[in-house]
Amino acid sequence: MFETVNPATGEARPPIEELDAAGIEAALATAHAAYKDWRLTSVETRTDLLSKIAEAFEANKDRLAHTATEEMGKTLKSAIAEVEKCAAGFRYYAEAGPDFLKDQRVQTKGGHAIATWQPIGIVLAVMPWNFPYWQVVRFLAPAILAGNVGLLKHASITQGCGALIEEMVRAAGAPEGLFTNLPIKSGAVEALIADDRVAAVTLTGSEGAGQKVAEAAGRALKKVVLELGGSDPFIVLPSADLDEAAKVATTARIQNAGQSCICAKRMIVHADVFDAFLDKFSAAMRAAKVGDPMDEANDIGPLSSFEQRDTVIEQVARAREEGARLLFGAEKLDLPGAYLTPGILLDVDPDSDFAKEELFGPVAMVFRADDLDAAIALANDVPFGLGSSIWTNDEGERERLVRDLECGMVAVNQMVASVPEAPFGGIKRSGHGRELGPWGMHEFMNLKAVLVK
Ligand code: NAP
Repeated sequence: MFETVNPATGEARPPIEELDAAGIEAALATAHAAYKDWRLTSVETRTDLLSKIAEAFEANKDRLAHTATEEMGKTLKSAIAEVEKCAAGFRYYAEAGPDFLKDQRVQTKGGHAIATWQPIGIVLAVMPWNFPYWQVVRFLAPAILAGNVGLLKHASITQGCGALIEEMVRAAGAPEGLFTNLPIKSGAVEALIADDRVAAVTLTGSEGAGQKVAEAAGRALKKVVLELGGSDPFIVLPSADLDEAAKVATTARIQNAGQSCICAKRMIVHADVFDAFLDKFSAAMRAAKVGDPMDEANDIGPLSSFEQRDTVIEQVARAREEGARLLFGAEKLDLPGAYLTPGILLDVDPDSDFAKEELFGPVAMVFRADDLDAAIALANDVPFGLGSSIWTNDEGERERLVRDLECGMVAVNQMVASVPEAPFGGIKRSGHGRELGPWGMHEFMNLKAVLVK
């Protein structure tokens, strides 16, 4: 059984039954059979299904959003926005996707060759709770268009969201087995990866889970895409619009109660504007409202679980032991849920153990950098390399930062975000491979070469 609590209230949620070995085998067999047919379907059949899934998400927006909020605590307004983003993601692949499947012809010495994209089979997705719909859609929409089929192992606390995604896909008219939610625990993943019917695996989650899944995929010699953690820098230079930077930095740190891989976690501010930025940023962080995620007035709900909150509190305590200064925040609320107030840490030692970790909660580190070189060195001085947000109106600085930051994505005068059209992913310990756009779809396709005389 999956036994979970609503992190906003501490009350138990209805338990969800775990799938047993016979159930997993039946799901694998059905998915395998579904692939044999789905790989032969026309592009129109696939795009038609994607459009209908988008409609199902929109028609069930409130139910989907409520389930996410009750399971992992995000504000209802952000859950609604996430469901809308999912519908847009399915529509993006329905509309733009067919072009990504087009053959490419190249001249050869003896004639010509055609590079043609073909599906590969069952893709297993191991997904986290923080964006319980959007993370899944990022793998599922391109998989459907590619002619693949999907199996989902969702996070233990968002099993209801996993079941609802399957319900939406079925309601849209998908054939049996095209997409199956497997209510299983992480211990069942390794055997699934080893199964000959599973072609590839994609994981979004922590470094630890990424290592386990990559090991299993390596043993089975299967393709794996890993979207792991991050400790993204938010670099503010003197030519930036400081009011806008402070406002966006706040959103970028507290979105989803600070539990996003691409949250701006380390604010790196040029010495010339450090005090001015810190004043504005502190004011905006203090003004963020924490409370009932169902209440439209609140910006931050509880963290996803009491364990997650305790982890953040423990990290902040350790940061202070290692010399950091807590300016304010990182406090529990006198409410039954797993609430934590937004906070700011100063004087974090970049060489401390804490500074090398991901802080998955609404607490920002603010660093001072004497010049651009120092800002870049600080930004790169972590094991992660996911995104970076850079704030400058100087063209030369922008070029330097884009060239020298060790990361997969740079957002200029805006926060890092995942958008369907652009590649999403990281380097270093943030993982490898890309999601979204044509790149995400091609990760799980066979680029077959056809040599023609
Ligand atoms: P997590 O504990 O790694 O869980 C992610 C998924 O992996 C869950 O389904 C989990 O199942 C499963 N899992 C855990 N250990 C496993 C193992 N040994 N073998 C197979 N599966 C395993 O991560 P989380 O706490 O849910 O999510 C937070 C992390 O995800 C953060 O580090 C965050 O930065 C990262 N993240 C990255 C991205 C990105 O795109 N780069 C996006 C969002 C989040 P159980 O729940 O059953 O343990």
